[in-house]
Amino acid sequence: DLSSLHPRTAHHDRLYGGLLADGFDEESCHCRYQSAMYRRNPGRRPSPYLISKLRRHEALQRRCGPGTAAYSNALEQLKSGKSVASPECTYIVSISYRGIGNRILAAASAFLYAVLTGRVLLIDPSNEMDNLFCEPFPNTTWLLPPGFPLTAYTNFTVHTAESYGNMLKNKVIRSDEVPTAAQLPAFAYVHLNYDATVEDNYFFCDDDQRLLQRIQWLVMRTDNYIVPELFLVPAFQEELDMLFPERDAVFHHLGRYLFHPNNHVWGLVTRYYDTYLAAARQRVGIQVRVFGGMPDSPELLEQITTCTQREGLLPEVLAAGEPMILPAASRTKSKAVLVTSLRSWYYEKLKSMYWEHATATGEVVSMHQPSHEEYQRSGARSHEHKAWAEIYLLSLTDVLVTSGRSTFGYVAQGLAGVRPWVLYKSGNSSAVPDPPCGRDVSMEPCFHKPPGYDCRLKQWGDPSKYVPYLQHCDDASWGLKLV
Ligand code: GDP
Repeated sequence: DLSSLHPRTAHHDRLYGGLLADGFDEESCHCRYQSAMYRRNPGRRPSPYLISKLRRHEALQRRCGPGTAAYSNALEQLKSGKSVASPECTYIVSISYRGIGNRILAAASAFLYAVLTGRVLLIDPSNEMDNLFCEPFPNTTWLLPPGFPLTAYTNFTVHTAESYGNMLKNKVIRSDEVPTAAQLPAFAYVHLNYDATVEDNYFFCDDDQRLLQRIQWLVMRTDNYIVPELFLVPAFQEELDMLFPERDAVFHHLGRYLFHPNNHVWGLVTRYYDTYLAAARQRVGIQVRVFGGMPDSPELLEQITTCTQREGLLPEVLAAGEPMILPAASRTKSKAVLVTSLRSWYYEKLKSMYWEHATATGEVVSMHQPSHEEYQRSGARSHEHKAWAEIYLLSLTDVLVTSGRSTFGYVAQGLAGVRPWVLYKSGNSSAVPDPPCGRDVSMEPCFHKPPGYDCRLKQWGDPSKYVPYLQHCDDASWGLKLV
């Protein structure tokens, strides 16, 4: 019984207040039953409505998912290329591409859309998406099985003729009249990528949703967190209000519900945590997002030290030779810092600083960096495992410092349930931004490329001006986030 080893289990609900379904084989996914006791911050409570909706959605995934008669029928329909009047089950396939942060936000977005529209979610297994997570739904799989009839779906782009935007533009379908089933295609490709066109973005309009609702198969590509924009679709608003009475905790719940490191990654997480982070009084996570080929930046290092010391996250250090006059007792107060980065230079510098100088408070500061992979190698198995383990480790820290505009950091802050201090990007790389960082307004990820088109008013507009729960992001001024 783990509760005797970890007394915190007693008051931590292992299943996050009913967010997670019980009834999984514990051996198949240790994280599912153990992660709550690694979290000091229990996080927000899911609404009873969200919990019941998730249980109903799990039943839908079981009833219609791979291996069922309904799934075989739907595949036959797709192969025929023809639409059917009232399909038993409808589906959305979420394409997995770019870095793991992008892929997680895409999957979470597709999942919420699936829940709102009663579709079965199927995840494209590309880029190791079939090798990082436990299955989220009991007794079925969320992975798209091999042999999918749309063989080239991972290559769909903004130019694909079957994209919803192109079908509208080319009048293959129209959203202003009611087509018969025979006039509808068997599938549509929904392109909500950074380069989505005006027509692609009509996806977020009510009339278009009515039409899309009648198409049995959707294949979606996004590299972003489109959820804030779903809150602007009138047809979804009432349901979203009931599911998420706290609008700043949407990804927090979706993330904790969907993304459990598989046993291999969970081993990476727990061995590291138990060895380097568990004993400290406080854990501080610092995510330093750098890009391959970028030189190590003394300005970014200074930004990190100024931010963490000015905000009181890490102690200041004394000049060399200054006497330590603090009582020995303060030395027992320790902070463990988890640095994640593709490079090791920032970590080495920070570690040396706290070795070569005493802290002004007498606190003991230890620095740890699990890996430094040098270059982004998305899709390479051990690289992906480390990236996911590091995101998860960041999410187990008590205080987070993240790099602006990074989806890697967004996932960590959402799983953690904390508002991070965000290191702003300087416009000028040779200057330290002032202030060096700021406290984020919410733990939600930022949607970097919202369409900005208001379907009700049929004109361009800024929803942050009239929707109280949407704001522009501090780290991407044109982006939108839930607060
Ligand atoms: P974003 O590009 O910052 O929005 O985040 P993504 O996760 O989508 O893409 C960045 C990718 O680079 C990650 O998925 C990793 O493959 C790699 N990467 C970036 N930073 C780190 C890091 O701190 N640790 C590790 N292990 N990998 C990283």
